[in-house]
Amino acid sequence: MIIIKTKKELEIMRQAGLVVAEILERLAGLVKPGITTATLDHFAENYLAERGIKASFKGYNGFPASVCVSVNEEVVHGIPGKRRLNEGDIVSIDMGVIVNGWHGDAAITVPVGEVDPEIMRLLKVTEESLYQGIKAAQVGARLGMVSHAIQSYVETAGFSVVRQYVGHGIGRQMHEDPPVPNYGRQDRGPVLAEGMTIAIEPMVNVGGYEVLVRPDNWTVYTKDGSYSAHFEHTVAITSNGPEILTRK
Ligand code: MG
Repeated sequence: MIIIKTKKELEIMRQAGLVVAEILERLAGLVKPGITTATLDHFAENYLAERGIKASFKGYNGFPASVCVSVNEEVVHGIPGKRRLNEGDIVSIDMGVIVNGWHGDAAITVPVGEVDPEIMRLLKVTEESLYQGIKAAQVGARLGMVSHAIQSYVETAGFSVVRQYVGHGIGRQMHEDPPVPNYGRQDRGPVLAEGMTIAIEPMVNVGGYEVLVRPDNWTVYTKDGSYSAHFEHTVAITSNGPEILTRK
């Protein structure tokens, strides 16, 4: 069941979104060769603790951290730890918070120092595919138009879209209906209505779309070892068009 949010509820989700946007901006500023992935989690934990804000991910199905940090061939759900970032790596940072009972969820992928131009293109294409998806998220459109916009943009650029993990509705729960695939037909899926809130999150691989999960039961990585990028925003469907909630 898709839960429609009132204007008041959207206002609270906007506050959650702002916190996420602020933290992600600061985390991006911390990324440089030599830092550990745990550094990013510690920053987020301190930031949230100082303000009495809860992270969405910590403890979710037992996830041990506040931020997912996924490096290079890792797609999503990486657990921050002792791994040090190297020049030329890319690092995906995914984070959600709960403000007054409402979630905001977003992700970015950041280059570590100087990165191969083809990998920089991966980051650009993945981020732009997110905006193509957002643009399609209009009242009266089918959700499949969002999915299709992302997939066609990514595949035209020569990359592939992960199938096994998808975006999601979001609100009082981090994961609500509907699932938001990053691939598929335009004429499928529910019709978008004012007050729906969805997290759109393309995961894009340089090589094939197949992914596997590490023995830690969390870290998703590309089967062929190719690099993967991930960008996400929480978006409200409004009569004035899609509104990005996780933006300053
Ligand atoms: Mg999400």
